[in-house]
Amino acid sequence: MKCPHCNVEIACRTKVCPLCHVPFNNVEGKLDEARKLPRAFPHKGRAPMFSTTIFDKVYLATALYLAILAIVVEFVLTAKVQGAFLVIAALFYIYFSIRFTIQNYGYFSQKVLAQTLMLTLVAIIGRKVLPRPLFIYEYLLPCLYMAAMLVISIYILIRHKHPQKYLLNLLSIALLGMLPIIVLRFTDSEFQLLSLLTASLGAFIILITLISSYGKIKQELIRLFHT
Ligand SMILES: [Zn+2]
Repeated sequence: MKCPHCNVEIACRTKVCPLCHVPFNNVEGKLDEARKLPRAFPHKGRAPMFSTTIFDKVYLATALYLAILAIVVEFVLTAKVQGAFLVIAALFYIYFSIRFTIQNYGYFSQKVLAQTLMLTLVAIIGRKVLPRPLFIYEYLLPCLYMAAMLVISIYILIRHKHPQKYLLNLLSIALLGMLPIIVLRFTDSEFQLLSLLTASLGAFIILITLISSYGKIKQELIRLFHT
């Protein structure tokens, strides 16, 4: 089809002439005509969120078998089933770890955030096995969040050209860093130093990022939630 204004040949789907930029506005039915043309770029469909691969099927079947085995073995040996929680949590962790960080092409900081969230879940599920459940809020989670914050901060410092992608993930982990101290406040825990340090580091990072890159964070939020 030809542009009614400049007569250039148009080969792909468009609403304006690629040469003279005049919109077709359905002059002589040109808009309808242009809509029927093939796309300039092949349409890249979204990958379905819950597609199952062979890996999923094999893994889930194996995991189910191992989970039942863990429950049965522990029940027979100790008449309890709490240790099996840890096995089940580990099985979940390995699955999501492979599925959403190894098999996924995300940004480095997204992978760190995903790992942090998954390890948090594992720790919360697995705390029943510990002799002192508070241990996860006193030691495990504070160390995890501090390590994650430091890793992303160092990464940003090394590759600081376009930090937008990393800042939101860093902020999420910094906010998560408040969790241990909040939980411990409602318990009789005697060791709150590590969780306090983590919360301070989180607050420091939130403050620094907001002061230094408020505009970039706003841009990134708009980009993420603007459809
Ligand atoms: Zn034209």
